[in-house]
Amino acid sequence: MTSRVLIATELPLATRTVDLSAIARNVRRVLAIGGTPIMAVVKADAFGHGAVEVARATLAAGASWLGVATVSEALELRRNGLDAPILAWLIDPWVDLEDAVRQRVTLSCANAETLAAVTSAARVVDATARVHLELDTGMARGGSTVDDWGDLCERAAAAETAGAVVADGVWSHLALASRADEQGVERSLAAFDHGVGVALAAGLNPKHVHLANSAGALAHPSTRLSMVRVGAALYGIETVRGRSFGLEPAMRVVSHVAQLRRVEAGTGIGYLHEFVTSAPTTLALVPVGYADGIPRALSRGGEVSIGGRRRPIRGAISMDQLVVEVNANDVRLGDEVVLLGDPRVGEPDSAEWARIADTVPHDVLCGFGERVVRRHSELRPSGGVA
Ligand SMILES: *Cc1c(COP(=O)(O)O)cnc(C)c1O
Repeated sequence: MTSRVLIATELPLATRTVDLSAIARNVRRVLAIGGTPIMAVVKADAFGHGAVEVARATLAAGASWLGVATVSEALELRRNGLDAPILAWLIDPWVDLEDAVRQRVTLSCANAETLAAVTSAARVVDATARVHLELDTGMARGGSTVDDWGDLCERAAAAETAGAVVADGVWSHLALASRADEQGVERSLAAFDHGVGVALAAGLNPKHVHLANSAGALAHPSTRLSMVRVGAALYGIETVRGRSFGLEPAMRVVSHVAQLRRVEAGTGIGYLHEFVTSAPTTLALVPVGYADGIPRALSRGGEVSIGGRRRPIRGAISMDQLVVEVNANDVRLGDEVVLLGDPRVGEPDSAEWARIADTVPHDVLCGFGERVVRRHSELRPSGGVA
């Protein structure tokens, strides 16, 4: 076996490097702007950034809670030694909740069925389950309807009296916080205040009342309440229309030039020849495609950066490969191709991809496939990068 073969099998086709110190700076930025305790939302593997690593970095930077969607996401954090309070908010009543109760995961309850499942899990493991009740305040997605809310609060109060649960949180989610105006959040806030009043009247004592996502935390002070649930802002996504809060992207995605070819005018590129050259030019092959999370919509209008210069993607992006047009003289085989980088130095970012692909940056960041090998920069005590 030659060493050349060994090197080739060890080189990933593409990597995403997550800068944990950028995430730490984003946490401190949100804390500085809002001053309210932060629940760091690390669902969906921290929007593709690595849930365990991001959870550690955000807690070290001053976050107080961790937020996830599912019980298995919460238990993965516990298995990796994360001891902070965790809220999980998508709880089906038929899943096994015993480990979650044992591991002190706070379980969101949006209906009587889930509350009953949590209560019986608490009885089985002979522990008190922690519960936050979710009210819908104008999103028509998760949460108790206003009609069911009084009944849910009364059931929770009864379970608390029986010693099965501690229901010390009430929360909701904002549909319209990304709008810069206040009207969108005011109606939710009024509905939420009313819901908290109903919980108090039922005999609950919710010391955690939380409503705001990143946009609420940054742009709508009235929604901050006792805690803010921050996802997007941790990862550098600016979610408030027309405003920027100085957040930094934390994920850099690079690949390399895997092949170069000279072509004549009139050359059709890729499946169905969606792009045809109008002059002789040079094409570079980049070994990533839509299976790796590169939106196929970037086939028209997407760009990469090579050697500090923008280069257009040409032809339809394939499952594993894409083609860019380069200048013959300044690109070499093996050169780094920046897919997502730092917009401050002219590299493409997730907001640019999202515009072209008609989606949101969140979708771009959590869409990368396993073949895009993930690495984390080390976080030093100073917050710098090792
Ligand atoms: C995803 C999510 C968040 C985080 O929202 P961002 O806009 O990413 O800050 C907060 N709360 C709930 C319930 C969520 O599902």
